Amino acid sequence: MKYGVIIHGGAWDIPDDAVLDHLQGVQEACDTASKSLREGKSSLDAVEAAISLMEHNPTFDAGRGSFVNQIGEVEMDAIIATEDFHFGSVCAVTNIANPIQLARLVMEKTNHHILVGRGANLFALEHGFKEVSPESLLIGRELERYYQIKGKKDFHPKDTFHRKPNGMGTVGALCIDLTGKIAAGVSTGGTPYKRVGRVGDTPIWGAGAYIDAHIGAVATGYGEDIIKVLLTKKAVEYAKREESLSSAAFKAIQDLEQISGLGGVIMLNEQEFGIDFNTPRMAFAFQVESNSMQVGINPEDRNRFKIHR
Ligand code: ASP
Repeated sequence: MKYGVIIHGGAWDIPDDAVLDHLQGVQEACDTASKSLREGKSSLDAVEAAISLMEHNPTFDAGRGSFVNQIGEVEMDAIIATEDFHFGSVCAVTNIANPIQLARLVMEKTNHHILVGRGANLFALEHGFKEVSPESLLIGRELERYYQIKGKKDFHPKDTFHRKPNGMGTVGALCIDLTGKIAAGVSTGGTPYKRVGRVGDTPIWGAGAYIDAHIGAVATGYGEDIIKVLLTKKAVEYAKREESLSSAAFKAIQDLEQISGLGGVIMLNEQEFGIDFNTPRMAFAFQVESNSMQVGINPEDRNRFKIHR
């Protein structure tokens, strides 16, 4: 069995001056996951390592660098999953450096799937997570954005995903390990200027992530739209019927488009990868074993690569 990794760094209107940072970020994450898998670690370990790295990277809307809510705070959502419908999620957590690690703990140490807000934070403390200061997650760029948005009467969070020069993205990863087991993870600070307590698609099973029949999918984009169509569940269902993951991803994004939704999806199974998005850009990287890594960000990049593993 060959191991493989696919990473996304969010589907948004990523501005030209942020392209390099996004490409570098997804490349580093892909590298980290590949290294774990090469060492024989599980796909779950590889996903956790890749997403943790991106949560520390302020380029992305996850962990440090997240968008802030209407009261200027960082509230984050994350999901981690592996096969057999095994997943854990956290919603609207604060003061945690790596929500993906907390999501894994929910999956492995509770008989629940989802913990929110105060409950998730209490659970984190119980398990020895160090609380980090709100300032360590909040960066100057986001504070500036917060004050800019606060002054605008007509701001809509969906604008950020489409033709507005202020993009940065959620992070997602899918890995398959040497035993053929798939794992998925997504982490986000959500959307800019969201209401306190707003939860997007990311931690919702079938919306932000889904794995079934050895096919995995993770999403990014405007969460309210993604939830409506259950994007990743749709993508996996299509993959069971379609010839390739690329066409399954394409069909799922078409469904999103039907409701004027904006976003992207990445997919993986034992044979291939699938990538599609209808936002101006989505940063992605993928690699099979030690073959050369493929990286892209523009719509035409989806076709430039032969995606098959
Ligand atoms: N889907 C995330 C949310 O709506 C945001 C993103 O993917 O960039 O919370």
